[in-house]
Amino acid sequence: MSKEAILVIEDEKNIAELVKYNLEQGGFRVLTAGDGETGLDRARKEKPILVVLDLMLPKIDGIEICKILKQDDKTAAIPIIMLTAKGQEADKVVGLELGADDYMTKPFSPRELVARVKAVLRRTNEKPKYKVLKVGSLELEAEKHIVTLKGKAIELTSKEYDLLKALWEARGRVLSRDFLLNQVWGYDESLNIETRTVDMHIGQLRKKLKSEEHRIITVKNAGYRFDDEL
Ligand code: CA
Repeated sequence: MSKEAILVIEDEKNIAELVKYNLEQGGFRVLTAGDGETGLDRARKEKPILVVLDLMLPKIDGIEICKILKQDDKTAAIPIIMLTAKGQEADKVVGLELGADDYMTKPFSPRELVARVKAVLRRTNEKPKYKVLKVGSLELEAEKHIVTLKGKAIELTSKEYDLLKALWEARGRVLSRDFLLNQVWGYDESLNIETRTVDMHIGQLRKKLKSEEHRIITVKNAGYRFDDEL
């Protein structure tokens, strides 16, 4: 079967071994990590097809790892199944909110875990690969080239769309007018095109974003940034 590996981050050796054995029986290659730091490192380097993540871990806990992996574009698509102990219900909810795909409460049946792993992989393979950005009541579907506000499509010109996408994808970083001109209009900075063009389009874009217009923030003497905090 697949040569790509599943990463098991679990500090309890006997559980890690049991999970590894069962996943291997299920046809998967398995990598393990016994603490959070090693786990995070391996997840970044080895790009596993799925991570089985224990919540209580030495060095960096499971919630933190989940958060870091899901916030990084390079690892955000890796599905995560969390292992929680009884009494960690609150953490479980946080994990799912952070983007974990499933969870199992200890003690669990290793065979059921294998079944869950297969189900999650099936689900994620069926999911469209393109990105959907979401914040507040705003959504941007890159593949379809559409932006919706409260579920209704907003009519944006292609420049307004590109502008919004560039700002959004920068995840809160400030982008200068020159950078945006270059990125959206494809102008060479040396051409000295009016940076006011950017301001005009930003103004139009803000109007169309209505209740979400506050997300586009003017940063004095620097440019613009998109506020993607909830
Ligand atoms: Ca543990």
